[in-house]
Amino acid sequence: MKSPDHKLALSVDLEEWYHSRRWVDGEQARTLPDSTALFRKLYGSDRPAGEIIAPTLALLELFERHRCRATFFVLGEIARYYPDLVRRIADAGHELACHGLYHVDMTVLGPERFAEQLQEAVDLIQGLTGLKPVGYRGPNLVYSPWATRILEDQGFLYDSTVCGSRPLGGKYAGWDKAPTHPYRASYDAIEEPGGSRLVELPLPAFPWIKLAGGSGITTRILGYYWSLGALGHAIRRGNTAYYFHPWEVGTRPKAEGHRLRNALFLRRTGPWMMRAVERILRRFQGRIVTARESAEGLTPGR
Ligand SMILES: [Zn+2]
Repeated sequence: MKSPDHKLALSVDLEEWYHSRRWVDGEQARTLPDSTALFRKLYGSDRPAGEIIAPTLALLELFERHRCRATFFVLGEIARYYPDLVRRIADAGHELACHGLYHVDMTVLGPERFAEQLQEAVDLIQGLTGLKPVGYRGPNLVYSPWATRILEDQGFLYDSTVCGSRPLGGKYAGWDKAPTHPYRASYDAIEEPGGSRLVELPLPAFPWIKLAGGSGITTRILGYYWSLGALGHAIRRGNTAYYFHPWEVGTRPKAEGHRLRNALFLRRTGPWMMRAVERILRRFQGRIVTARESAEGLTPGR
């Protein structure tokens, strides 16, 4: 591909399949979770069943084979249950960033609880590795303008929540007008450039029709070429980003609930998605960086 200087920030949101189900069974994202009750229902135990471990290790092996480093946006709850896994990711040379404590929309938490939970998640990650995360991604790609100052106050250098999509599933309002490449965000609106110190690394949309294109979920539902179209269009013009989850390349979970939404949510999980990720790694070989590396040119005074 031409325009060799532009980079693809590759990231993995380190969470389980039941964290990402906002649009399948929305309640989990809109209320504070009772994790123990969920684990009892799903696994008959007070703990999660470790489903995240095997696909995450497979991804570490894949990234090693392709000699690329990624950013893992770690959910605090996952760091608490799987400290060895999180240390292993850091030991392999990947960046650890923060994805909040639980997978709840920040609009539900409000500023105070958001700040408390952010601090707790940072402490969990830092306690395992000694390194303080400087990158953040909002659970469910939901963002409130007050979060920018809180993130700055807690030492964050960048955020990667904005998706340049037209509104979808009650999210992304106004984000299709956001810059398509990394920018310093405004305090008033994360989707607008402005005077904050926080760098926003937006996720791409498919061009022209402006629908989300930079995530594993869209790759699986709409196809490899959908994501390739979004990423290829974006990277010709500047740095872009792609993310997915370990559960997408893992064994299909037994999920209950809305049948059609579940079928879409879990479409092509497992080997299909692993092959799609590998195709993306090959296609963008030599241009894959961590989110922090992509943000670095724009972070002030560091
Ligand atoms: Zn997530």
